[in-house]
Amino acid sequence: MKHFDAIVIGGGLVGSAIAYGLAREGLRGALVDEGDVAYRASRGNFGLVWVQSKGDGAPHYQRWTRRSADEWPGLAADLLTRTGISVGHERPGGVHLCLSEAELEERSARMERMREQSGNYGFEYRMLDHRELADMLPGLGPAVIGGSFTAYDGHANSLNLLHALHKGFVARGGRYFPNTTVTEAQAAPGEFRVAIDNDEISAPKVVLAAGLGNAILAPLLGLNAPVRPQKGQILVTERARRVLPMPTTTIRQTVEGGIMLGDSQEDVGFDTSQNPAVMQVIARRSVLSFPWLRDLQIVRAWAALRVMPPDGLPIYDQSERFPGAFTANCHSGVTLAGAHANLFAPMVASGALNPALDPFSARRFDVPAAA
Ligand SMILES: Cc1cc2nc3c(=O)[nH]c(=O)nc-3n(C[C@H](O)[C@H](O)[C@H](O)COP(=O)(O)OP(=O)(O)OC[C@H]3O[C@@H](n4cnc5c(N)ncnc54)[C@H](O)[C@@H]3O)c2cc1C
Repeated sequence: MKHFDAIVIGGGLVGSAIAYGLAREGLRGALVDEGDVAYRASRGNFGLVWVQSKGDGAPHYQRWTRRSADEWPGLAADLLTRTGISVGHERPGGVHLCLSEAELEERSARMERMREQSGNYGFEYRMLDHRELADMLPGLGPAVIGGSFTAYDGHANSLNLLHALHKGFVARGGRYFPNTTVTEAQAAPGEFRVAIDNDEISAPKVVLAAGLGNAILAPLLGLNAPVRPQKGQILVTERARRVLPMPTTTIRQTVEGGIMLGDSQEDVGFDTSQNPAVMQVIARRSVLSFPWLRDLQIVRAWAALRVMPPDGLPIYDQSERFPGAFTANCHSGVTLAGAHANLFAPMVASGALNPALDPFSARRFDVPAAA
């Protein structure tokens, strides 16, 4: 039997960021991960650290996302110092491109709504016309009639981020249990016991951060995480010289030069197959946005599953029945890595979630169905 200060179940971006943050708080942690047989959004995402479209109708989510984006530069610098891994974070601002009047109107209305909802916190954005955008984005296609810009947005290499979080966690004395599926967790006073292979580990704190696996694990500890899969597909071009100075919602150039094109949203259950019709839509819209993309070869493409809560907002809870057990789920685990490592982990270490996270409790789903 091995005893730890905290056990984190799930070694994707959410669990790893929390485990890294806990280790930095001085907790001796265990990070247990199912491995390559699992659905892993953390290995198939688009890499945006994205703020501008997050939290329409939910200003608390806008604030949490912004705080996370603000934590990102510090987290990236800290990971570089501690692990030698650059996570390629850049925050040049970001653009959402609109290809029709209807899209532009909808976007403009959404951005203004978000500004109104932000209250004293504020939300700075600019709506730009084609000419202004063309000055910012070389080779912009005539089909783009306008778009929105905020300075809050950025992007990063999310695979390097995952690698750095794991390396940093282990370097701080954390113990990583790969290829280990948790199927049982038991609560005793002041102690949680988690069965792993033919062994057991224990800790006074446990964080369920197993992505889609949380739907099954959460009820074991009096929690609720009704997340569902949502498929997204991504295409990547061959490397080109750096052309794009900033990411857009669906097109971004990596530090290495490849251009990532994304990203669809399909509710098709646990299906990770690629759908050529959807890939075609992604490619067509990308070429309309930047016609020069037509000359680049697509070298990779994949589909992956987002971890989607019913209303699209993160889920954070501490179990009322078993204090010390926490859940963490979200569909923007790259963006929220700064908050998870630097803000959420210290809350777990202190034993209480900040009341500012109350609106993210899964209790919001306990509304009785209308008669
Ligand atoms: C196509 C696509 C594009 C995306 N683009 C972006 C983006 O641009 N920006 C952004 O911020 N986010 C983006 N995301 C979302 C982001 O990738 C996810 O929010 C994030 O990866 C979720 O991390 P996670 O750790 O919760 O889940 P996962 O990455 O799914 O990891 C869960 C982990 O839990 C483990 N696990 C599951 N069950 C168990 C168990 N029973 N026992 C032990 N371990 C278990 C699995 O092995 C897995 O490693 C995108 C996602 C997709 C699919």
